Amino acid sequence: MAILENPIEYLKGVGPTRAELLKKELSIYTFSDLLYHFPFRYIDKSLIYNICDLSEDLPYIQLRGKIIKFEEKGKFRSKRLIAYFQDDTGIIELVWFKGARWIKSGIKLNSEYIVFGKPSAFNNKFNIVHPELDLLDDNVNFSPGLQAVYHSTELLNAKGLSSRAISKLVIALLPQIKNNLDENLSPDLIAKLNLPYREKAFNDIHCPKDSKMLVRAQKRLKFEELFFLQLHLIKLKLTRNKKSRGYPFESLGCHFNDFYENHLPFELTNAQKKVLKEIRVDVKLPQQMNRLLQGDVGSGKTLVALLSMLMAIDNDFQACLMAPTEILAKQHFNSISIYLEKMNIKVQILTGSSKTKERRILHTELEDGKIDLLIGTHALLEDKVKFSNLGLVIIDEQHRFGVAQRAKLWKKNKYPPHVLVMTATPIPRTLSMTLYGDLDVSVIDELPPGRKEVKTIWKSDASRLSTIKFMRDQITKGRQIYVVFPLIEESEKLDYKDLMEGYNQIVREFPLPKYQVSVVHGQMKAEDKEYEMNRFVKGVTDIMVATTVIEVGVNVPNASVMIIESAERFGLSQLHQLRGRVGRGSEQSYCMLVSGNKVSDEAKKRLQTMVDTNDGFRISEVDLEIRGPGDMMGTKQSGILDFKIANIVTDNKILHFARNEAKILLDEDENLENADNINIARYYRPYARERNGWSRIS
Ligand code: ADP
Ligand code: MG
Repeated sequence: MAILENPIEYLKGVGPTRAELLKKELSIYTFSDLLYHFPFRYIDKSLIYNICDLSEDLPYIQLRGKIIKFEEKGKFRSKRLIAYFQDDTGIIELVWFKGARWIKSGIKLNSEYIVFGKPSAFNNKFNIVHPELDLLDDNVNFSPGLQAVYHSTELLNAKGLSSRAISKLVIALLPQIKNNLDENLSPDLIAKLNLPYREKAFNDIHCPKDSKMLVRAQKRLKFEELFFLQLHLIKLKLTRNKKSRGYPFESLGCHFNDFYENHLPFELTNAQKKVLKEIRVDVKLPQQMNRLLQGDVGSGKTLVALLSMLMAIDNDFQACLMAPTEILAKQHFNSISIYLEKMNIKVQILTGSSKTKERRILHTELEDGKIDLLIGTHALLEDKVKFSNLGLVIIDEQHRFGVAQRAKLWKKNKYPPHVLVMTATPIPRTLSMTLYGDLDVSVIDELPPGRKEVKTIWKSDASRLSTIKFMRDQITKGRQIYVVFPLIEESEKLDYKDLMEGYNQIVREFPLPKYQVSVVHGQMKAEDKEYEMNRFVKGVTDIMVATTVIEVGVNVPNASVMIIESAERFGLSQLHQLRGRVGRGSEQSYCMLVSGNKVSDEAKKRLQTMVDTNDGFRISEVDLEIRGPGDMMGTKQSGILDFKIANIVTDNKILHFARNEAKILLDEDENLENADNINIARYYRPYARERNGWSRIS
């Protein structure tokens, strides 16, 4: 409604100066923005402590009393402002280490204040450091019950726009939204989920009478926020599926069946079967498939890729598989060539190092349709690479390729080929529902049988001797070992030094000719890296000392030990990826996390999680808890995870609810035309326009 779009300066009590500040500091431009500036905490106003009752283990509390005197103490770093705050039962010190001047000028001595903060004991006296102070002002009628606390900033505080002042503005605004805030959920939904009406929810979230009302208001507003996002994502998916023409793979023919019946090296896991069925349903339709396949390292994605490609070949289409590095492309090429050995299918490989002459032949054969299956690196993207009839594109390890790069592949046929993107980075379902809410997602959530869990051990630097002995034992048994050092871009030089020191130390402990040690790092030439990597792959070297360049996908089944140095410096998903390099053969494998002695709590949690579980999805959930969604996905900029009130980690129940309700709604009324859904339609249209301005991330 129009009133909500009013500029914030029109609100009583704001005016031009404060308006400027609200815009600059809190991005509050309109009435609506203020309405959506939700409290981040509430104080139970019924609970006011007496100073004489304070104890050290109290949480944040309220006191009521007067400041009787100021004092400035200390010099330089310990310089501080002390205010003596008194109630009927005693005196406590309020302490500020900065901003003394504006605090002093903003506070009235001997006036009644509410103080909010956490008391702590110092020299047998209690004090509260950097408390919040609110003048008890009888002119404002704060609601009884819970008092909202708003985010403010130092500057705003200094200019008199404290949390309490913002609260006053909100209280001035609330009567004006009466009958002006359109309901945006259908009566059905509101009744079904037992939610308060929208207007009531906004009133209650800012001025809750009690915690029960507050919780209901929060639930309603969180639901609303998540519901419209999910509605939008599902709608995008529906629209795209309708619009994008694609090639239907109508039947499964001899190749697929022959392979499945005669050449499959092992029984597929149930998860692999389930995913293949999902893909089968997609590619049958005359619309482009756009599917994301998540499967932990070692879950057997390659076989799923291969069987999907056979679906294409059976329908006279070509297929291609793109990997992020040359080594990976070669590994795929080798293993797929072996799988297809006894079948009449032509597989080729194209990478940056393919010779010009070979390329020329390959280009022609590809255009003539003589090649069925092309495997390669981003060399596949070049314009010269033309297919006669490309029907399916599979992209391995999705995060290494950008959207634009992928789009190039789509243009290699008249209609876009089906696309399957495979990633070994599991992300929690809640996150994937939002980030990939407009894609179809398949998950392989089961490892092939007989896999031995990698044993993970966390050690400190001090136990190096026993580690070396362990390494020797493993090498004697014929195993190979990775030793990984961190690579952090800002300190590349230091990392290089660490790595070379580590390498030298290992060479000293594992001397020639008995032992062979390889080293691979970012400052080596590509061919040298490749050469060293190949020596290790072939089993010529026993130990591979490397930075994280080996993180993605490499398969050396005989390597059974992964030693990660300075493990506390790695992120969880990286640790998990690295550990995934071992445990690929039939032998018991080990992952050793070596950390320094000073490890932050967060790093401890990461390392302990690695010791506790091998489950990539579980690990990704912990990662999400630790880092929050923006950091975890590198999506801070994208805006898709910027919620006003919902929290994707803690509100996942509401999120599931919301997605489910959105699905049900769109199943019944895809274009939101039913009279019952008029509230939803009216709110959704402008919402969708605004969202569509954003670009997708994946
Ligand atoms: P990722 O999902 O990490 O790409 P891969 O496709 O490389 O995993 O498979 C890992 C290993 O598991 C390979 O050696 C592969 O041969 C084996 N594998 C795949 N599927 C099965 C299965 N159903 N049963 C037994 N082993 C399997
Ligand atoms: Mg793989």
